[in-house]
Amino acid sequence: MLTIIAATQNEHKLKELREIVGQFGMEVISQKEAGFGDIDVVEDGETFEENSFKKANEIMKLSGKICIADDSGLSVDYLNGAPGVYSARYAGEHKSDLDNNNKLLKELENAPDRSARFVSVVTMVYPDGKVVQARGECPGKIIFAPRGNGGFGYDPLFIADGLNETFAEITQETKNTVSHRAKALAELEKKLKDL
Ligand code: IMP
Repeated sequence: MLTIIAATQNEHKLKELREIVGQFGMEVISQKEAGFGDIDVVEDGETFEENSFKKANEIMKLSGKICIADDSGLSVDYLNGAPGVYSARYAGEHKSDLDNNNKLLKELENAPDRSARFVSVVTMVYPDGKVVQARGECPGKIIFAPRGNGGFGYDPLFIADGLNETFAEITQETKNTVSHRAKALAELEKKLKDL
C-alpha cells in the first residue's frame, strides 16, 4: 500500500483526508507521525493553489516522501469571495472557530444573498518533483445562527445545496461524500490514474 504524508497540523482535515484517501487504497500518516510536528508552513500565498503546493512541497523536501496537502476555505458571494484563503484567521491570528463564525454572521447581517461555497485544493508532491493538483467546490448557503456539534470551522453555519442540515449536523460519512475536500480528492484520484 502506498503511504503518503499529510502536510497539515489540523486534526479535522487529517481525519477527513485519511478517511477519503483510505478508500483509494492509500495510507495517510500525519506530519506529526512522520516526525515534523513542529513545522508550521507559512501560508502566505494569494490562492488556494499556491498555499496547497507550498505546504506539500515543504514537507516533501524535509521528508523525502510523497506528501499531500489541502488548502481550503469558505468563499462568500456577498463578500466578494472572502474569507477565502484567510478563512482560518478571519477574526485575526490565534482566534477560534467561534470567533470566525461570529465575524461572518456580523458581516452578513444585512446581506440580501447568503450564497457561499467551500473550496479545497489538494496537492500531491513526489520526491522526483512531480506535482498533481485538484480543486473541489461545494456550493451552499450561510444560515443565520450555528446548528450542530460535529465538524469544525464554519461547518455549523453551512448548508450544502441539496441538504437541509449543516455540515455540523450531518454524519462524517455524508460530509465525506459531498464536501469540497471529497470532490477535490476524487478529482485527484482521477488525475493519478491518468499519470
Ligand atoms: P487552511 O487550509 O489551513 O488555510 O484552513 C482552512 C480554513 O477554512 C479552516 O481553518 C476552516 O476555517 C475553513 N474550512 C476549510 N474546510 C472546512 C470544512 O470542511 N468545514 C469547515 N470549515 C472549513
